[in-house]
Amino acid sequence: MPELPEVEALAAFLRERAVGRVVARVDVPGIHVLKTYDPPPTALAGLEVTGAARHGKFLDLTVGGSGPGGDGGLHLVVHLARAGWLHWRESLPPAPPRMGKGPLGMRIHLADPATGETAGGFDLTEQGTQKRLAVYVVREPAEVPGVARLGIDVLDPAFTVDALAGLLTGQRSQVKGLLTDQSVLAGVGNAYSDEVLWEVRMSPFKPASSLTDDDVARLHAALVGTIRDAVGRAEGLAAGKLKAEKKSGLNVHGRAGLPCPRCGDTVREVSFATKALQYCPTCQTGGKPLADRRLSRLLK
Ligand SMILES: [Zn+2]
Repeated sequence: MPELPEVEALAAFLRERAVGRVVARVDVPGIHVLKTYDPPPTALAGLEVTGAARHGKFLDLTVGGSGPGGDGGLHLVVHLARAGWLHWRESLPPAPPRMGKGPLGMRIHLADPATGETAGGFDLTEQGTQKRLAVYVVREPAEVPGVARLGIDVLDPAFTVDALAGLLTGQRSQVKGLLTDQSVLAGVGNAYSDEVLWEVRMSPFKPASSLTDDDVARLHAALVGTIRDAVGRAEGLAAGKLKAEKKSGLNVHGRAGLPCPRCGDTVREVSFATKALQYCPTCQTGGKPLADRRLSRLLK
């Protein structure tokens, strides 16, 4: 799943490639991806792409309007979910794609504003059967409920140690759940939260309310450091190279069964909510493997 660094890099990539071009046509072969109907996606046609930004894990393309913020324009807001991706295409087939259940959800054709000639574009796709890729055409990004709900962004200068301490105060949930809750902290998902907790040698199931001042300071440094590093590595990469780059930078996430790069113990996996998290027992849980806490397990 793309998280803050990958979406940030996608926005930068689109600022370079798409901004200044005109939307020539919008195909929506996977009609289920479209979560809004007014304005319709056809309203984007003929308008210039004026900006690309990120809100948490949402990608926001400004189309039409004027000024650096694209005031008065429309916004194509995309949440790539777990298996969605953006594929940049230097040339696109002119024939409309077939409607149906394939991975292609939406295709944006771009054109050169001066000549009107076709100038590439991009596909929004989703692999697998879990159809969660979501696209919104709105007048303001905050019209998207997931954007309106976002908590503070990890890269926001206002996200200080004190701000993190404030978010943790009185929270009874486990630190892993809190770090990935987008309404608390925007941009961090399953992968980078595993990395941050490994970095500070903390159990993912530690109650947030039990963190000491020192824990909070270390957690803050690891959050900002891990995300900044990942943004730096992703910067300037083409959309197609981001996934491999993310994977290569991970120490524990997605590495169950492999040795911990710090201590050599075997990285383990445990279910968390609807996903799996990975951690190092020696580094994070005093050598003890975590028990699976899924309710379904208890009911068996
Ligand atoms: Zn370890």
